[in-house]
Formats: sequence, structure tokens, C-alpha cells
Amino acid sequence: MVIAIDGPAGSGKSVVSQLVAKRLGFHHLNSGKLYRAITHRVLQAVGVNADSATIIAVAEDAEIQPADGGLSISGQFVPDAELHGDQVDSHVSAVSSVLRVREIVNAMLRSTASQTDIVVEGRDITTVVFPDAEFKVYLDADIESRAARRYAQQAELAPEQQRSSYEEIRNAIAQRDEADRTKEHGALVVAPDALYLDTSHLTIEEVCDKVTTTIQGDKIQQEN
Ligand code: C5P
Repeated sequence: MVIAIDGPAGSGKSVVSQLVAKRLGFHHLNSGKLYRAITHRVLQAVGVNADSATIIAVAEDAEIQPADGGLSISGQFVPDAELHGDQVDSHVSAVSSVLRVREIVNAMLRSTASQTDIVVEGRDITTVVFPDAEFKVYLDADIESRAARRYAQQAELAPEQQRSSYEEIRNAIAQRDEADRTKEHGALVVAPDALYLDTSHLTIEEVCDKVTTTIQGDKIQQEN
């Protein structure tokens, strides 16, 4: 069974997906983290001026494995703080715009889904990767709430690093929103059959309750 969750940065996707997966006993997959890992590798190997051919070569070579507190890419552990650092944040939209990179990531996601029940989160999961997912959710929130969440998260991810200001974070999110919504492939859009939830004024628990109750309600309906 696939539960697909999409939404913009800071909408609560990651924490909600993890909790819903835990409640249902499903695996959890964060597709953004795969794009971030590839972006990190591109930046390390080639720098900010990498062309599409080089980005594709890096992505084709990448062996990504889950790891506690980060990811392992081609044998190198990359901590969450680096995956969510400013450098990766500024380049991940461009790297993930390359169609071949998307095909590689989508193949990884589909391969995992063929082996186990999963909750998968991202931008195009409900529309492109798993258009036939048994259950689809679109999490949204206004930009002020999303920027405030990211501002608070910084301290948890990298307490020793210098923090960006709320304004800087808000601007970076607005830029990434724009890039993610206008991509030629895999753009962020609301699937017409997704459960749409505005999380701006909801707690994580409230969002998880709404998602799990709807999934369970749907399952009961399907069984009858
Ligand atoms: O979810 P997260 O904010 O970590 O994703 C980082 C970036 O990866 C997004 O801003 C987007 O550019 C890209 N992404 C994507 N498609 C997905 C998931 C993420 O293009 N399914």
C-alpha cells in the first residue's frame, strides 16, 4: 500500500509522514532527501556550475542508503544538517529539475514501494510517482507559518552553526516555492483526488489524527 504526501517546504510533510508511517507500521520515504543527497554530491564533486550532463553522471553513479541522522551516498555519510544546509537548499531545485535525475529517484521510490507498505513524501508523489496511490494527501500552510517552523528547526539541526534570520528563511522558501511550482517536470500541484489540509493553525498531532482517521475511514469503506 502506498500513502503519498505532497506539499511545499515547511508544510509539516516530513514529521507528519514519519508519524503516520509509525502509527500504521509502514516504512517512510522522504524523496526530497534523495534529491538533497544527489545535490550535495554534485556540489562536492563539481561545485555550483555543474551542467546537466555532469549532474546526470553523478546521479547515475549514486548509491543511496538510509542512515541514522542523515543518508549514506556512495559510501559517504552525509548528516541531516548538511542535507538541509543553505548550499543544498539553494541548488536542490535546479538539480531536481533535470528529468533524468527525476527518473532515477522515481525508480528508487517505486522499487521500495514494490517491496513494502510505505508513506512517501515529496512534491510530485501524488501526481507523477504514484498517481494510483491508495491514499493521497496535500499538506499546505501559509508562508509565515512555514518560515517560522524552519526558523525553529535550524537550532535543532545544527545548534552550533550561525542561524539565518527569519527574513532570510522566508525569502529562501518563497524562491524555492516558485521554482518547485513552475518546474517543467514534477512540479508541485494539488492532485484533485488528494485530501487537502491547511496545517497553518494545526498541531502535528491534529494533522496526523486527521490523516490517519481518513485513511482508516477509507479502508473501512473499501472493505464494505
Ligand atoms: O522536501 P524537501 O523540501 O526536502 O525537498 C527538497 C527539494 O527537492 C524541493 O525543494 C524540490 O526542489 C525537490 N523535490 C522534488 N520532488 C520531490 C521532492 C523534492 O523536486 N518529490
